[in-house]
Amino acid sequence: MNPVVLITGASRGIGRETARLFAGKGYRVAINYLHSADQAHALAQELQERGCHVMAVSADVRKPEAVAAMVESVRQTLGPIDVLVNNAGTAQQKLFTDLTEADWDEMFAVHVKGTFFCCQAVLPRMIHQKAGCIVNVSSVWGLSGASCEVHYAAAKSAVIGMTRALARELGPSKIRVNCVAPGVIDTDMNAALDEETRACLREQTALEEIGTAEDVARTIYFLSSEESRFITGQVISPNGGFLI
Ligand code: NAP
Repeated sequence: MNPVVLITGASRGIGRETARLFAGKGYRVAINYLHSADQAHALAQELQERGCHVMAVSADVRKPEAVAAMVESVRQTLGPIDVLVNNAGTAQQKLFTDLTEADWDEMFAVHVKGTFFCCQAVLPRMIHQKAGCIVNVSSVWGLSGASCEVHYAAAKSAVIGMTRALARELGPSKIRVNCVAPGVIDTDMNAALDEETRACLREQTALEEIGTAEDVARTIYFLSSEESRFITGQVISPNGGFLI
């Protein structure tokens, strides 16, 4: 049977392109979403019409019971999960001095706890099988820091720390854990940026480009494939030369 991938936050943006890429490679794909039900189901339909085995599955990654139910539902419908992509995320721009405790907790709930809950839910079976792959989506801001996004940058740095530590713990079980830290990518997350800001961000990359969701999807796929079998605990940053 073809392998199964669960991609969190796959209704839009990077997650959606990642779902398309994995489906095209023959994976059975679970498309997780929270609010964008129409978009998730439209994607599932598009991929089913191409002959792919996919399902759309709702769950808030901040809630452990919802995550456990999602993983069980995927297991029953598509089979046990071979690859987990922790991609769901939100962003917020605020001066550090204006951040509230609720802002801070929310950022860590989605990115850090969400990754923690999803990993915990899929790992017992992966450990039993002595096989599996986890790809966590961090951000270039988690590597470099970002002004007016301290809580986001801190949460994304925590995802990198989790990746490295988990890779060590799970290595003996032959489970690889890696991280993708995208640069600026053209998705809804950056839809509010004005043209001046976009031009400024482009100029900060060696390639003078803003990336696409497909650019990130390809890196995620690489880290899940046999091509990267000796790579674990690493961070790859598709960022067009934003950080060199
Ligand atoms: P996006 O287009 O805004 O999509 C975000 C996705 O996350 C949506 O599918 C959304 O689902 C889902 N999501 C948010 N909160 C969720 C929750 N609590 N439970 C389940 N799903 C949830 O963002 P994107 O640009 O594709 O970002 C994807 C990942 O890449 C994020 O982790 C982001 O931090 C990271 N990243 C993005 C960039 C960039 O420049 N775009 C750069 C570096 C890193 P619903 O719409 O269904 O609620």
